[in-house]
Amino acid sequence: MFHYDAPAELLKDRIILVTGAGDGIGRAAAWHYARHGATVVLLGRTLEKLESLYDEIESAGLPQPAIVPMNLDTAVEHDYIELSNQLYDEFGHLDGVLHNAGILGMRTPIENYDPVTWEKVMRVNVHAPFLLTQALLPLLHKSSDASVIFTSSGVGRTGRAYWGAYAVSKFATEGMMQVLADELDNDPAIRINAINPGATRTQMRSYAYPAEPPETNPTPAEIMPLYLYLMGPDSKGVNGRSMDAQGQESA
Ligand code: NDP
Repeated sequence: MFHYDAPAELLKDRIILVTGAGDGIGRAAAWHYARHGATVVLLGRTLEKLESLYDEIESAGLPQPAIVPMNLDTAVEHDYIELSNQLYDEFGHLDGVLHNAGILGMRTPIENYDPVTWEKVMRVNVHAPFLLTQALLPLLHKSSDASVIFTSSGVGRTGRAYWGAYAVSKFATEGMMQVLADELDNDPAIRINAINPGATRTQMRSYAYPAEPPETNPTPAEIMPLYLYLMGPDSKGVNGRSMDAQGQESA
């Protein structure tokens, strides 16, 4: 596991948006960001899940979060611009974005892959993070220390049979991260990186490996050290890297 001991007030007064915040890794990240002092903006498609996390954060006495119900499969450019305007009115800037929401699509040979599913996976996993990043960059540029984190996967670095659009979307995610990081390389106030969570005990993992006992893999909470490190000021100057949450590195 990546080793990092996050100071309690690591993210104090920071405004951080997390996509797919209602479940799995995104939910753990939003909760841990709040626990370390951030005001979290919870974006996801299932309102009840976002509301239950909101309640948990509020009743723990952590900074009051915001909820953004949004379906990344159907949202269009205008929706992202409207969100950016709302966040500007409410907070004036943004210190971090965790692009975490993602879908698996189908596990099947490319020869048989359903084109409608292919497009949906590319829309949620690639097109949405592009549109969201584009809309939010003006707010991120208003922060003195902004961090954008994309979510990759092992199959986004080496292709693997039957992973279809999901693998291709994660290669695209790595590419988007690298291009953006290079474009912003001379700006010390913003960094762009990616995390490969590694096999993690979530619903997506059990869809992908139905026969695997869930206890085989760490929980989302256990992989949080890298999520905290890359979001907080200790990673200032780290730009354009794709890092492994379950790797052997230390901060
Ligand atoms: P889950 O399926 O458990 O959670 C995914 C989250 O994304 C859910 O909150 C889901 O919302 C949200 N989401 C999905 N589609 C949309 C949409 N159209 N609009 C808005 N939100 C959406 O996945 P994980 O937590 O396992 O995965 C998180 C990220 O980590 C993904 O990018 C995944 O590819 C990556 N990853 C995960 C690994 C693992 O082993 N778990 C390994 C490698 C990478 P809802 O709950 O409402 O469905």
